[in-house]
Amino acid sequence: MGETAGVIRLHFNRPGNRTGRQPSTWLLDVPIFTVCPNCAFTPHEALRYVGSRYGYVGGFTCTQCRAKVSITDGDCRPPVRFTADTPGHPQVSFVYEDVYRLTWADLERAGALTRTPLIPPGEKGYVDFDAALRALEVEIARLDLPHESAPLPEGVTWVPLPLRAWLDALHTLGA
Ligand SMILES: [Zn+2]
Repeated sequence: MGETAGVIRLHFNRPGNRTGRQPSTWLLDVPIFTVCPNCAFTPHEALRYVGSRYGYVGGFTCTQCRAKVSITDGDCRPPVRFTADTPGHPQVSFVYEDVYRLTWADLERAGALTRTPLIPPGEKGYVDFDAALRALEVEIARLDLPHESAPLPEGVTWVPLPLRAWLDALHTLGA
């Protein structure tokens, strides 16, 4: 575990109408916050999440309660789950796409607000997170809006900086 650069890779899939599947996005490489399910401690330090090997992401020892915590996912798909090796094996899990507001619907809404398509054309590919964040910040500057801090979802006390900026920008624009 270590501090990460702001590298964020976000994949999208836009299935054709006939498949009946919904368009979706998911995170391939992103800094995530970690939570100890035993004592709820969240260090202000991100872990770089790049999926798993057969569902195993990694693990850490909680610096507050010393519980050993393992991190798993659905074989590179959300949710990401934290399980403490303590009596009862308490767990918490997060769908980071939802917490970070990087779902298809969020990106569509942000794209409409900035009048900039943030999801490239085509069936699948990558969303340029830095360009998307810049588009929001340009729109905020154009409207001369005061910066607002976005509330975080239940159970989330801290998010790494590039995502904090994204959440605040969406909130500031009323998205
Ligand atoms: Zn703990």
